[in-house]
Amino acid sequence: MLRLIRASLRKQVIRIGLFIANTLGFWRYPSNRDKANDPADRLAELNWIYKSQNPLIRAEKGSGLENYFLEKQQIDRPFLPEGFQTDSIARLSAVGDLMRARGLGNSKGKLYKSTSDLIFHADVSFANLESTVIEIDENEVGTHVWVTCDEYDAFKGHNDRQYTVFSTANNHIIDGGVKGMNSVHGLLDTEGFNYVGTNSVPERQRQGLIIDSNGIRFGFVAATYGINHKVLPTDKGYLVNIIPFTRDKEETDLSLLNEQIEWCRSQGCDFVIASLHWGHEFEFFPRLYQVQLAHKIIEQGADALIGHHSHTIQPYEIYQTRRDPHRKAPIFYSLGNLVSWSTEAYRCLSLISRMCVVKGHIGGATKTLLAELDITPVQQIEYETDNKSFLQLHALGELVRTAPDESTRLVAGEAAPFADLVLGRHWRENCHIHHS
Ligand SMILES: [Zn+2]
Repeated sequence: MLRLIRASLRKQVIRIGLFIANTLGFWRYPSNRDKANDPADRLAELNWIYKSQNPLIRAEKGSGLENYFLEKQQIDRPFLPEGFQTDSIARLSAVGDLMRARGLGNSKGKLYKSTSDLIFHADVSFANLESTVIEIDENEVGTHVWVTCDEYDAFKGHNDRQYTVFSTANNHIIDGGVKGMNSVHGLLDTEGFNYVGTNSVPERQRQGLIIDSNGIRFGFVAATYGINHKVLPTDKGYLVNIIPFTRDKEETDLSLLNEQIEWCRSQGCDFVIASLHWGHEFEFFPRLYQVQLAHKIIEQGADALIGHHSHTIQPYEIYQTRRDPHRKAPIFYSLGNLVSWSTEAYRCLSLISRMCVVKGHIGGATKTLLAELDITPVQQIEYETDNKSFLQLHALGELVRTAPDESTRLVAGEAAPFADLVLGRHWRENCHIHHS
């Protein structure tokens, strides 16, 4: 009885709080309070609920990030320096979060039907696997993200083409406890998938993952901001690569990531990609501290950065490195949810990024550089046949032009302004943005 009264009181307090926040509008900008930092902070929790209902379309007040990205998404010179002699070429694709979703179990062979070339034509394809592949008791306290084997089968690839690399460093990987994570490792090992970010043995934590493709050696490194305040068993901190990226004044300790990057270099990697599960949910711009950290990680040796977690798409930038005047590094702050449990149009909008990387030489030095970059906004659409729903991903530009039906047209119309906000309007011309 007392529990019921407390629950109904809590609902009322939340309703009143949201009403005040909506009326006065003080949470329309990102807030310093975050429940990822302090789960006991009730105001931070209320702010999270507010954001989940009113995603933030503004960057931090006074940060100037909106204009910053408009500028950084333009490039005035070709990626490759004059006189660069290309020896080898490899293509990479990267997508955001793979999570549980309604209808996913019926989507095998359908999910990627119209986008499989964008993802799986690449020599190396990457996704963030944000689901445990075991059933978890829903009555347990907390949020649980897990998928059934059918759901996993649907999102792991298309026909005989599958992802090359999964990141498993994310806040939901311990939802089923260490047992859940071990079962994911077992499954990925059995099926021959590569993964990075979680570790069965301590020595793997300070290492990255190496993938050789077309004469180019890629190194992948990964970390997550946290695991939803779950506690790893004593002496088993190595299981998940955790770096609490925060906005605290103390410097974020990036040593774990740096050690992974250095290990990749020591193994002869030509191009290192950092996967970061970070940022703030339901926000369309990264925070200023993330931009500073991203630059730091690139200057410390990563050549590209792939971010995810916010359930929204966020801007990318083409960063001119200080460490090498020939090097431009792509930074994706958040690619969004490729497969989403949500029905909100903006949470079913994500980005497929494609990079063409070339190894060659210039002025007597061997370098591996970014040669081309493509970004395609895609929309997850739920269809229904025989009373069963299934999911399919489409290039948003195609849906805007020729939606197959009225409800799809409406979803595309709802999502498109968010793509404009984050990418500008160039994606509308050819369904994607191309830089070279
Ligand atoms: Zn996440």
